Amino acid sequence: MITCPKCGYVRQTTDLTPDYECPKCKICYSKFELQKQKEAEAEAERLEAERQAAVESEAQRERLAAAAAEVFPVEAQRTVWAPSSAALEIAMVMPRSLKDPVGFKPSYFT
Ligand SMILES: [Zn+2]
Repeated sequence: MITCPKCGYVRQTTDLTPDYECPKCKICYSKFELQKQKEAEAEAERLEAERQAAVESEAQRERLAAAAAEVFPVEAQRTVWAPSSAALEIAMVMPRSLKDPVGFKPSYFT
């Protein structure tokens, strides 16, 4: 009695397909197992590479922090927060109307 690893179909004695092939989804049992194993290995390799990269970047960050500590000893004066968005609008001169009087004597732009 073989159960298909892909579709879960339990092989019957009356099934006509060769005994290495699933009658329902037509996959080859051993090929499917092999492929699943390869995928698992690839996934494990990828995870290992990711973990290694994380460890290296952590070490790199520590090295940079150590180097920066020698150059910039005053950590307390760093800006923690980004400038408030309320400060994005800057003061500017109000545009003057052409009909406003200019100077000491009353005069007008034409
Ligand atoms: Zn199947």
